[in-house]
Amino acid sequence: MVEPGPFDVAVIGGGVIGLSCAWRLAETARSVVLLASDQFPPATSAAAGMLAPVAEAHFGEERLARLNSLAALRWPAFAAEIEAASGRDVGYLRSGSLMVALDPSDRRQLDVVHAFQRELGLESFELGPSACRAKEPLLTPGMNGGLDLPGDHQVDNRLLLEALWTAVARAGVNVVHGEAGPLVNDQGVVTGVHLASGRILPANVVVMAAGAASGRMAADAAAPPVRPVKGLTIRLTAPSGAPRMQRIVRGLVHGRSCYLVPRQDGSVVLGATVEEKGFDLAVQFGPVHDLMEDARRLLPTLGEYTLDDIAVGLRPGTPDNGPIVGWSPVPGLLWATGHYRNGILLAPVTADEVVSLLDHHPGDQAGGDPDRSPFADFRPDRFVARRS
Ligand SMILES: Cc1cc2nc3c(=O)[nH]c(=O)nc-3n(C[C@H](O)[C@H](O)[C@H](O)COP(=O)(O)OP(=O)(O)OC[C@H]3O[C@@H](n4cnc5c(N)ncnc54)[C@H](O)[C@@H]3O)c2cc1C
Repeated sequence: MVEPGPFDVAVIGGGVIGLSCAWRLAETARSVVLLASDQFPPATSAAAGMLAPVAEAHFGEERLARLNSLAALRWPAFAAEIEAASGRDVGYLRSGSLMVALDPSDRRQLDVVHAFQRELGLESFELGPSACRAKEPLLTPGMNGGLDLPGDHQVDNRLLLEALWTAVARAGVNVVHGEAGPLVNDQGVVTGVHLASGRILPANVVVMAAGAASGRMAADAAAPPVRPVKGLTIRLTAPSGAPRMQRIVRGLVHGRSCYLVPRQDGSVVLGATVEEKGFDLAVQFGPVHDLMEDARRLLPTLGEYTLDDIAVGLRPGTPDNGPIVGWSPVPGLLWATGHYRNGILLAPVTADEVVSLLDHHPGDQAGGDPDRSPFADFRPDRFVARRS
């Protein structure tokens, strides 16, 4: 059976990227259909919601760090826009973050990170142990100081997901629940999507935003080089009346990393593991134990907290850890995927970019002004050229 249509745009994926794109596109008076499966839980739901251009700046990823900084500037307006469109709070907090070192060797590692952050022009200030504890009194007295990162903030990613679903419905997006794929390829042009039911959804443009599954939704040139990178977070709640955490804390604990993100309601998100295990969603004792042990070394009081939830997500990883946003090598198909560790942070600028690609060159798949776009370094062709 073939659906009436075609739609202007079909967006595949009901995570933060697909929903943000669908919402924004519908606001431009296009007819939009969103294909969302619950084949696996969106990484968006397992995430911690940190908007962290400074702590997420890594050696060798300087261009990504620049994109992340631009993305963070877009967040205050985006949070206000999504709250107005949905009538829901998304828990956007300009809380700032602390990066802290447990032992002297962790401290030396943090000094190197600090020098790198300053080299990139990012705001990062050294703090001794007591200055750290003045900002976050629950830190263990035995820690070795850290860095104040006033530009790293947070949103409640689960509230954000709910708000995006409401905004999408209010904007008139058609939603089809169920697994989509494969793409309809008509003589080298993508013209729609097959549904598991056998129906075809015709669309002038398909936006691939299926997160970690993006790489397996198509064959050959239509498949972006995206792989799943497993991660888990643990949700905890402070006992009533107990002192609450004040700040996001990102810790180095005997060379291992962990973070704690306090929410307004007294809960805390503890994360995260990074595991190359394909499409595996099992919760294993070892990684959970390590995370909890490291976190408790930083904040001994966590031992009193209740354990509410353990969530597993598959980050959409790419060969250079950067997102892939732009026209694919196959006409009719746009990739908005591969956001790896920073999909929440990058969602607003990604949705803006997808709208701009469709606005500026309807029918002309060169799309956007390559020099002025923040995504100029993150186009599909950086991988397509390598493959050929
Ligand atoms: C443990 C963890 C912590 C993280 N912390 C942060 C953080 O603090 N800050 C930050 O910015 N980022 C963070 N991230 C990364 C962030 O979560 C991801 O980059 C982001 O969620 C990717 O969004 P997405 O919409 O591309 O994919 P997803 O959120 O995974 O959504 C993709 C959706 O597409 C659906 N889908 C797949 N195939 C199909 C199909 N064939 N048909 C229909 N639907 C399909 C999936 O079921 C899924 O629901 C974290 C990730 C993890 C795992």
